[in-house]
Amino acid sequence: MTKLTSEALFERSKLVSPGGVHSPVRSFKGLGRPPVFFKKAHGSRLVSVEGKEYIDFCMSFGPLILGHRDPEVQEAVLEMIHTAWSFGACEMYSLELAEWITNEISFVEKLRFVSSGTEAVMSALRVARAATGRQKVLKFDGCYHGHVDSLLVKSGSGLAGEASSSSAGVSENVASETLVIPLDDDQALETVFAERGHEIAVVVIEPLPANYGLLIQRKDFLQKMVGLARKHGALVMFDEVISGFRVALGGMAELLSIKPDLVCYGKVIGGGFPVGCYGGKKEIMDLVAPLGPVYQAGTLSANPVGMRAGLRTLQKMKRLDGWKQLRCTGEIFSHELTKVFEKYKPTLSVSHFGSLFWIHNKRAQTIRRVDQIPEGQGEAFRSLFLACLEQGVYLAPNAYEVGFLSMAHSAADLEKTVDVVRRHFS
Ligand code: PMP
Repeated sequence: MTKLTSEALFERSKLVSPGGVHSPVRSFKGLGRPPVFFKKAHGSRLVSVEGKEYIDFCMSFGPLILGHRDPEVQEAVLEMIHTAWSFGACEMYSLELAEWITNEISFVEKLRFVSSGTEAVMSALRVARAATGRQKVLKFDGCYHGHVDSLLVKSGSGLAGEASSSSAGVSENVASETLVIPLDDDQALETVFAERGHEIAVVVIEPLPANYGLLIQRKDFLQKMVGLARKHGALVMFDEVISGFRVALGGMAELLSIKPDLVCYGKVIGGGFPVGCYGGKKEIMDLVAPLGPVYQAGTLSANPVGMRAGLRTLQKMKRLDGWKQLRCTGEIFSHELTKVFEKYKPTLSVSHFGSLFWIHNKRAQTIRRVDQIPEGQGEAFRSLFLACLEQGVYLAPNAYEVGFLSMAHSAADLEKTVDVVRRHFS
């Protein structure tokens, strides 16, 4: 029998899937080598088809806050699978998760489960338009909200300009529904609301932008955004697909003490299964069918296995005060990495927020916007990524993706990782 290798599997995959993958970043594009194929995972570890073990800092891009195959979550999942795995009808599993969330997060008065973050954002935008009777959506350059047509856009040429699409296949009409301004730019906010405020249905933001590096925003900027939206009759939507249940139980909304009108969750909410959710004020959510005129549906929405995995994940995190623990782990990890960079590679630096971290070329001030990311990010990341991979440390395979810590990362995992980085640069 021929031995399974990542390389051979990638060749086969390329014959049957575009680029050999089912989501672009998985392809290791620009990293100068084919991707690793994995066959299993446990705790903080991934195991490749070759049998090599890696400490995983990608964690499925965020959902696995307890680590891979957490025993409690696994128990809940297996129990569910032995009971049923899809109803397409009313059941109590989604009710329990919905009640848990609405009890814990005061501004989520009602919610609807879907199957991905993209779907959550897409549905919430529809609701926002219906609620306001307006068409335009204001977003920020560098924030990713899934592959919703109207949000696959970059900033147009002029400030507060209508956007042009950053993906082929998005019609100009759809792209022109979106206005894009830079993050961390008070003047741009004021201008866009002064000029277009009456047309804006909703302003959507990742309150902790983490899809183009980690672009930590000033609280007063976010407060200003909310104030202007309210003044001009636009809704505020927080895309907390990454930050929700990750930086705190109530996500960034809790840490900032801001109550958005609508919120989108994904990733952690499903404990590693395909779950998304949008929710908010009762009067807005009651616009959704069958109660209201906004149509939104899903064959596998509120899949019971995902519901059980999500609920058990959130319950365990709450019981252990996992968010506090992760903040502490994140602080230590980033402090240790910083010490290594300062000593051996002063051009590099690490930004972190709770359990999220991002290694980047150093800039004197905090990086808050896309145009502040220093040149050469791709190259700096590539060599570090390859060295880590070689030594059994798996970083998310893209220079602009953040890293995720989980409750399963031990002090020894983190020490080993810091040591790998130190040895690479010393
Ligand atoms: N919003 C944000 C902030 C995200 O980070 C992502 C995924 N990275 C999405 C939306 C889309 O979620 P999904 O990939 O589950 O469709």
